[in-house]
Amino acid sequence: MRFGVLTSGGDAPGMNATIRAVVRAGIANGDQVFGIYDGYRGLVEGKIVEFSRKDVSEILNKGGTILGTARLPEFKYEQVRALAVKQLIKHDIEALICIGGDGTYTGALRLHEMGIKTIGIPGTIDNDIASTDFTIGFSTALNTACDAIDKLRDTSSSHQRCSIIEVMGRHCGDLALYSGICCGAEYIITNETGLDKDDLLAKLKVNRLAGRKHAIVVISENMTDVYQLAKEVETYSGYECRATVLGYVQRGGAPTPEDRLLAARLGKYSVDLLHEGVTGVAVGVKKNELHYTPIEEALAMKNEPNEELHKLVLKIS
Ligand code: ADP
Repeated sequence: MRFGVLTSGGDAPGMNATIRAVVRAGIANGDQVFGIYDGYRGLVEGKIVEFSRKDVSEILNKGGTILGTARLPEFKYEQVRALAVKQLIKHDIEALICIGGDGTYTGALRLHEMGIKTIGIPGTIDNDIASTDFTIGFSTALNTACDAIDKLRDTSSSHQRCSIIEVMGRHCGDLALYSGICCGAEYIITNETGLDKDDLLAKLKVNRLAGRKHAIVVISENMTDVYQLAKEVETYSGYECRATVLGYVQRGGAPTPEDRLLAARLGKYSVDLLHEGVTGVAVGVKKNELHYTPIEEALAMKNEPNEELHKLVLKIS
């Protein structure tokens, strides 16, 4: 086969490990694999290069994506996608493996509807793709968040402060939930829990009165202005309070072994599926087993809150 691979949307650690797995699995099969630079934008512009085994050497442990990623909102227009199809025909490429989040999946679905064989691989730190238990990049971002929260705990403890830490995860609170549990946060706020300010302030006040020296609050991005929230905590809880927004540091860094393993498994699996004639699907893991879901279904699936972990927080925070 002759197929392409691209990374699109927000970058995530482990994208390089995925590219490597796709290229190497393809070449091992006797395929010709083409790297497409800068996501769908590069596809439309014809930034397409055949990759050898060596072209993906030394990237397994590197953060970011050697292919680059870009956003092309105009890809929703059929005439723009027609330019992409034209490029694929010109290079005699019959299939595409698209690594990214749900926007990337939508682009892949639209191309599939135009006759291009596509497979979506979940590459996003947010873990917000419901058709897989874990996305590539989540484990690394979780590690980064935990490292930062542990450090903030040290200084909070020394100064007897409350620390509010905002982590990424616009539509899915997993990064806040998991990092909060792993770092023993007193309070976790996600879009699944909602923000109940009165409850937060009351709990922190009780915490303070009970003589607990510090408190950690982990909150998902876009829930509220955390700097303003810190002021309110100071006013009502008795704690001095500082807010920290972790921001883009969560997108970088060498992928964890978990992300590398997931990248290797899903990369090779995608190539296998193309050879079996399965297309228009998103790959993932469910209960640690490889599986695929039609992209349309994957996009329609909702992220269910993890009841077990949410209950756990209530008991041990
Ligand atoms: P992510 O893949 O991380 O969710 P985006 O939402 O930015 O990131 O989507 C990445 C790219 O996917 C967009 O820049 C665009 O090129 C393509 N895309 C997103 N939505 C659509 C759509 N409705 N139709 C076609 N392409 C889309």
